[in-house]
Amino acid sequence: MARDAIAADRVEGAAELARRRSRRLLRPVINGTGVLLHTNLGRAPLGFESAASYSNLELSLESGQRGSRQRAVGDLLATACGAEAAMVVNNCASAVLLTLAALGAGRGVAVSRGEMVEIGGGFRIPDVMRQSGARLVEVGTTNRSRVDDYRRAVAEDDLAMILKVHQSNYKIVGFTEDADIGDLSDLGVPVVADIGSGLLDATCPWLSGPPPPWLAAEPAVRQTVKAGAALVLFSGDKLFGGPQAGIIAGSRQLVETCASHPLARAVRPGDLVLGALQQVTLTYLDRRGEDIPFWAMVSTPVAELDTRARAIAATVGSASVEVTPTEAVPGGGTLPTVTFPSVGLRVAGEIGGPLRDRHRPIIARIDDGSTVVDLRTIDPADDDEVANGLTEAIASIGAES
Ligand SMILES: *Cc1c(COP(=O)(O)O)cnc(C)c1O
Repeated sequence: MARDAIAADRVEGAAELARRRSRRLLRPVINGTGVLLHTNLGRAPLGFESAASYSNLELSLESGQRGSRQRAVGDLLATACGAEAAMVVNNCASAVLLTLAALGAGRGVAVSRGEMVEIGGGFRIPDVMRQSGARLVEVGTTNRSRVDDYRRAVAEDDLAMILKVHQSNYKIVGFTEDADIGDLSDLGVPVVADIGSGLLDATCPWLSGPPPPWLAAEPAVRQTVKAGAALVLFSGDKLFGGPQAGIIAGSRQLVETCASHPLARAVRPGDLVLGALQQVTLTYLDRRGEDIPFWAMVSTPVAELDTRARAIAATVGSASVEVTPTEAVPGGGTLPTVTFPSVGLRVAGEIGGPLRDRHRPIIARIDDGSTVVDLRTIDPADDDEVANGLTEAIASIGAES
């Protein structure tokens, strides 16, 4: 930075250049947006620490021979999913690409016209299909696809599989019809279900109460495997609440076909991700949902958020802060019509800039000229930091005007 400043003949600017460069580095932030799985903020929050150490990543401690990095976590995930086998890749997008390439290259893959989705970040099913070498066989119509449509495709074409893609980030309402996985699994070709969101089990046995009603229409991994899907693909960092990863779970033979394809090597995870995923999967198997930050956040009662908001407002003690009801959302391209009642702090004026310009930035929502910090996505341990941040940000705009 010093050399850049000298070259630009602005020696006094070096510190500012260094400061700006350091602001671009990855750092923990406080998510006050009320968007639980905010892709810009790394989706599901996850605490995972690992001391500098070697691991038995690809060593079998039993035989002393080379082992598979997929084995331990894959077996745990298979148990959690109720599947024969599972493997882990970089994200769900790579899971789709790998599955299509390994099972579908040079053959047809049937997809409903209502499921030719774009997931975001330019991930479009027809494009991924082309990249994989599989041939897209369109089935049904935008709003209605029946089992008979698929049956005809199976009879007329050389199909490697039927691909069902969950409509994660949009909804088609009105005169609609869809074929269910159970019926499709009888047609004689494997059904691969990309459910994206990664809800592990519709009965949510890791929660102390019944499954929350907002999950009612969300496909779940265990139930999709049970219904007859040959493979289920999902993200690690959406409703699963873990690190960025993609999971392929289902028939042992098909998982092995995916694992032995050359692309599997290109999309394999490292031991940081596998370690974090192992930890989350064990937490599910122990039924300790409260230890998974995503499930802890969605389960917090509104009254508790309200008490915290009032305490923060009292600490800030400014006339420009008020406690306000808000609506939090799942985010991450999941559950587009779901909202959770929540509570936030509304500050008159736009203080998003000063809130971001902190050692631990606080990311707020700007709403109609005021700034809202939603407590549903904030760890209670950070409440003092939020109170400090609001106090200082309000003072800084007070000082300007
Ligand atoms: C989110 C999503 C993906 C992509 O998942 P990443 O883990 O972000 O790659 C793929 N398919 C569906 C249906 C999704 O919802």
